[in-house]
Amino acid sequence: MTSSCMAFSLCPLLTQGAIDMLEHHGDEEQRELYLRPMVAAQWTGTMNLTEPQAGSDVGAVRTRAVPAPDGTWRITGQKIFITYGEHDMTDNIVHLVLARVPDAPAGTKGISCFIVPSSCPAASATTCGASASSTRWGSTRRRPAPWSTPTPSGS
Ligand SMILES: Cc1cc2nc3c(=O)[nH]c(=O)nc-3n(C[C@H](O)[C@H](O)[C@H](O)COP(=O)(O)OP(=O)(O)OC[C@H]3O[C@@H](n4cnc5c(N)ncnc54)[C@H](O)[C@@H]3O)c2cc1C
Repeated sequence: MTSSCMAFSLCPLLTQGAIDMLEHHGDEEQRELYLRPMVAAQWTGTMNLTEPQAGSDVGAVRTRAVPAPDGTWRITGQKIFITYGEHDMTDNIVHLVLARVPDAPAGTKGISCFIVPSSCPAASATTCGASASSTRWGSTRRRPAPWSTPTPSGS
């Protein structure tokens, strides 16, 4: 695929990367919710690291993730250069977004990763945003959807 169209091949490449990350670091609920449609190529994945002031220097990431009273996370910041960050080939795009929670230390040690689907999975009315334990994985919503996350673990 890469030799015929390198640009297109980046989409499954990034999706495979997101699958690997979810497989190794997602909790059971997150794996159950996201992996099957991603492996079936019904949804694609992205990685959202880069910001205007944070390219090679990933530790300079400023995007913030703040826990809301309803258990969801509010994520604000600016990401740039996100390959396949938007397209209409699939119903959903699962963004893995690097951000800092309020008590995070400076540099790369203070970076957490959040699952930010472009559309909240239908089956996830109560489970879409399962936040994950020690790796600080969590989810948020990018647009209003009828679902909520459990209280952040704060770990
Ligand atoms: C085609 C493309 C697709 C991309 N897709 C994604 C994506 O999907 N998701 C995502 O998050 N990002 C993506 N990026 C962004 C990419 O990760 C950044 O461009 C990369 O990290 C470099 O950051 P920068 O562009 O800010 O350059 P800078 O970090 O500003 O670097 C500019 C130059 O300075 C050099 N430099 C930087 N720091 C040092 C140092 N300490 N010592 C010596 N030299 C240094 C670099 O080698 C480079 O030559 C994409 C970029 C491109 C071009």
